[in-house]
Amino acid sequence: MEALAEVMSNPFASLSKASAPSELRVGGLVPFTATDYPNALAAVVFCQGCPWRCDYCHNPHLIPSQGEQALDWPAIGEWLETRRGLLDAVVFSGGEPTAQAALSEAVTATRAQGFRIGLHTGGVYPRRLQALLPQLDWIGLDLKASPAGYARVTGVEGSELGAFEALTLIQRAGVSFEVRTTVHGALTPPEELRALAVILKERGVTHWVLQPFRARGCDNEALLARAYEAHILDDTLLKTLRESVPYIEVRR
Ligand code: SF4
Repeated sequence: MEALAEVMSNPFASLSKASAPSELRVGGLVPFTATDYPNALAAVVFCQGCPWRCDYCHNPHLIPSQGEQALDWPAIGEWLETRRGLLDAVVFSGGEPTAQAALSEAVTATRAQGFRIGLHTGGVYPRRLQALLPQLDWIGLDLKASPAGYARVTGVEGSELGAFEALTLIQRAGVSFEVRTTVHGALTPPEELRALAVILKERGVTHWVLQPFRARGCDNEALLARAYEAHILDDTLLKTLRESVPYIEVRR
């Protein structure tokens, strides 16, 4: 998910306020991007809150359910009115967007404005995701590891259950999606990636985006100290992974 440094340069930085309980809590906004929704110009809304604790998280400010800076969701909605015809899509990212019950209403309102809707999710709350699916046009699903290695990445036992259920639900619904995995050798070593590749093959996934760890935004000093272990995506490993998943994009 996008680095918060870019978010801070947005036109809503001065529109901080506490959200009403039924309002989407927003911790950041990228007003324009050509890289966060396939083949479309989009804005990205960064939702506050995530129950997982990935060591490599590069938006740690978005993990608490209440952030230090809250942007005014109704004001963002008004601003989106001025973006009709200029933007194609709005992507709800995070944090974990499905952590908020208010996401559904926000998605409905944004869709009614004529924007395509994208969602970045780790599949943390599959039941909420399932309810949202009819309103979604594209999903970036973070699959962090094989089931056996999931808790090592997220810090939460059982976190793999929701993530892989989310994959099932998305595939059944037929919504366009991509699977993405962040790669840091200390958390997702080669054998872990090979195990995940086999599972993706079994699940019929043919496209896979691998995102090498980026230090920017990460505040986990222990992981940063192991940066020398991070970069493991050499040609040999990629060749092996492509034997299971033919189309792999390394997105740096
Ligand atoms: S799922 Fe992990 S990487 Fe994503 S926001 Fe939560 S803690 Fe950060």
